[in-house]
Amino acid sequence: METRHIPLLLLTHGVNIRYLTGFTGEAGVVLLGPRQGILWVDPRYTLEAHEQAEGVEVIEERKGVLKAAARWLRKNNEVRECAFEASNLTCAQFEQLGREAGNRVRLEPAGDLVEELRVVKDRGEIEAIRRAGKLTAEVLAEVLPHVRPGVLEQDLAAETEYRMRKKGAEGAAFQTIVASGPRSALPHARPSSKALQESELVIIDLGAILSGYAADMTRTFFLGEPSYRVRKLYSAVLKAQEEAVRTVQEGTPAGEIDAAARRILAKHGVARFFLHSTGHGVGLEIHERPRLGKGETTCLRAGSVITVEPGIYLEGVGGIRIEDTVLVGPKDPEILTPASKQSWVIS
Ligand code: ZN
Ligand code: ZN
Repeated sequence: METRHIPLLLLTHGVNIRYLTGFTGEAGVVLLGPRQGILWVDPRYTLEAHEQAEGVEVIEERKGVLKAAARWLRKNNEVRECAFEASNLTCAQFEQLGREAGNRVRLEPAGDLVEELRVVKDRGEIEAIRRAGKLTAEVLAEVLPHVRPGVLEQDLAAETEYRMRKKGAEGAAFQTIVASGPRSALPHARPSSKALQESELVIIDLGAILSGYAADMTRTFFLGEPSYRVRKLYSAVLKAQEEAVRTVQEGTPAGEIDAAARRILAKHGVARFFLHSTGHGVGLEIHERPRLGKGETTCLRAGSVITVEPGIYLEGVGGIRIEDTVLVGPKDPEILTPASKQSWVIS
């Protein structure tokens, strides 16, 4: 805040509030100054806030937390400027804030200050994601016996999420994807009432949340005996994924990871079927910084956690995606979702 000349920062994004204060409640705003911070919560969260929040004064507010923060700005005569989280404030909230804070206070977008801090994880955060990744891999191993012809996609997804909860996860980090046959060619298919069938590809994309932190993993299976072509396609994606993971290292531009995956897919003549970017950061949110897209110049930093997930999608045939959550290190990367990528044929 000091280097960017931000005197006061109003935080409205729950995940950022959690990151900086430890408060996990669903509603609350934080005003952060150089020496003090205030967390306003409504009475539902007072107790929780007092227990969890560190480094901020907790104030209970019954008539709107944002309004309370705005009135604080109006009351404190020395306040001339306050920064806000532009990507986490609705237009209506922004207007309300301006109205209640008054003309003296200039409101300035802060940029993604906290998001930038979240790019590098500390030891505790990495441990949480490591545990989430392990749990995710264990759940996949448990549901694998159910990946059989006749099982409905939505039943498999439900079973997956149930087992996450049973094993102590707070829940699924996102709606589990189970997509079979031609539906697997939709990169973000929602599980449907379609039954898995013999001679089909099945994509399962799952991730648990543990202590607030997400993991993200995809495996692709084939039911029955895959044709020569399908084997070739699977091997191309696997090679692309492994090569991209090998490229992960501190200092490497994010776009390089993407380029590595595309290079291998191009070598196998299937690069045109790769429809999305190679990965994304994972942490308190399932999609965060950095983005591993084409031409991204941001360099990877040790302690970042990212996904590597090339995939190809062929209309009428199906899709193949392989995804791991990976910890960026000063040297070798560490895969945090330890599940086999070799045993993909279910006969
Ligand atoms: Zn995923
Ligand atoms: Zn992902």
